[in-house]
Amino acid sequence: MERACARAHRDPASVRLLAVTKIFGPEVIREAFDAGLREFGENYVQEMERKAPVIAGLAGARFHLIGHLQSNKTKKAAQLFAAVDSLDSVKLATRLDAEGVPLDITIEVKLSDEEAKTGADPAALPEIVAAVRASRNLTLKGLMTVPPWSEDAEKSRPYFARLRDLAAGHSIPELSMGMSHDMEVAIEEGATWVRVGTALFGSRRPLLGLKP
Ligand SMILES: *Cc1c(COP(=O)(O)O)cnc(C)c1O
Repeated sequence: MERACARAHRDPASVRLLAVTKIFGPEVIREAFDAGLREFGENYVQEMERKAPVIAGLAGARFHLIGHLQSNKTKKAAQLFAAVDSLDSVKLATRLDAEGVPLDITIEVKLSDEEAKTGADPAALPEIVAAVRASRNLTLKGLMTVPPWSEDAEKSRPYFARLRDLAAGHSIPELSMGMSHDMEVAIEEGATWVRVGTALFGSRRPLLGLKP
């Protein structure tokens, strides 16, 4: 992160690290906490529910939901997370707001035409932004995107630049973009959050199938 900040003439304090702990057990979160990390990303409401009792008491730790949220899980999500970084519809904004607890919100935007990807169509962004801003309990923080996976991090660059332009157009301050393989490019393009799992904790593959 420092190397990319230096290249981009950016203050390293302007980019934060979201430690993505999905699939890993709660002991990994505890270890990362002991090493000084405070912001964590989890993909699944149910997985977070299982980990929550074990990691209760990590003072100052904040958990972000970065995976797709189903609208029937907003109550649990609002209880378990301080931030939802994957909001992608007005319906979800309305439901989350109705849970009555303060939540930081990042809107996930889908900038590719991949079938499997979640995220809001850029055309729907204005109405989602308006819904979050008009809500009582939600605070709009940023935009998030996940470009199509490629070995070549440079392929992510146009997606990151597009997200930056969209955020600027709506005066949205934070940009959550860049994962282990393309975070340096993301920082060069203005990321204020990078979401990193593998580069911190190693491959998730051997853990798949094990209950976290
Ligand atoms: C898993 C995940 C990450 C972390 O990916 P790595 O390649 O392991 O760094 C980041 N963002 C989202 C949305 C994810 O699902």
